[in-house]
Amino acid sequence: MSGTGSWALIEAAAGSLIAHADELTELDRPIGDGDHGINMKRGAEAVLAKADSLAALPLAELLHQSGMTLVMTVGGASGPLYGTLLLELGKALQGQADPPDRATLAAAFGQAVAAVKARGRSDIGQKTLLDVLVPLHQALAGHQPLATLGPLVLAAAEATTPMLATRGRASFLGERSIGHLDPGARSSALMVVTLLEALHQGPATVTP
Ligand code: ADP
Ligand code: MG
Repeated sequence: MSGTGSWALIEAAAGSLIAHADELTELDRPIGDGDHGINMKRGAEAVLAKADSLAALPLAELLHQSGMTLVMTVGGASGPLYGTLLLELGKALQGQADPPDRATLAAAFGQAVAAVKARGRSDIGQKTLLDVLVPLHQALAGHQPLATLGPLVLAAAEATTPMLATRGRASFLGERSIGHLDPGARSSALMVVTLLEALHQGPATVTP
């Protein structure tokens, strides 16, 4: 997973966001401003455009540079939040084995999720991307087989549908936010499923 291996993972995640941009934008229409897919696509394309300078970097540095790119190019709440996730993940993995073992990855991911919570002043249960990232961290830190993580994150994203949004634009709608899947939860789940597939760690179905 080092060098070009890490870059292949970034390419896979970016490709998935670009392929699902319309779907993510549609999800953001009823409970946001209809730009989530556009935002994520812009960030993904900006990272891919840096292939020449990023592709050979070790994982920690690659995550750092990718996070910086998202913070700088993505407007909206999601850019700084995903940017923070990658920046903090890069920081936590600095000096660790590349690729990291599972325990190291789980601890680093926990640190990154904590940074997203601090940045968004948010936590699980508020109908955001944290409703996918927090359960994912719990599953990573526990001893859940990797093959179960794809279905887990897809279900976690679906579980935001009945939630009342209390953070982000969707919270402006109050009770009317109920009954819609959160776009950030969906983009998180899509990225995780794609990364798992890229790692060949068990099948996980991405619903169209
Ligand atoms: P914006 O809301 O600024 O238009 P996007 O549409 O790109 O930005 O992203 C919206 C997503 O960002 C939401 O679906 C939600 O998952 C996430 N989000 C928004 N605010 C927060 C927050 N404070 N904490 C965590 N996630 C948030
Ligand atoms: Mg939006």
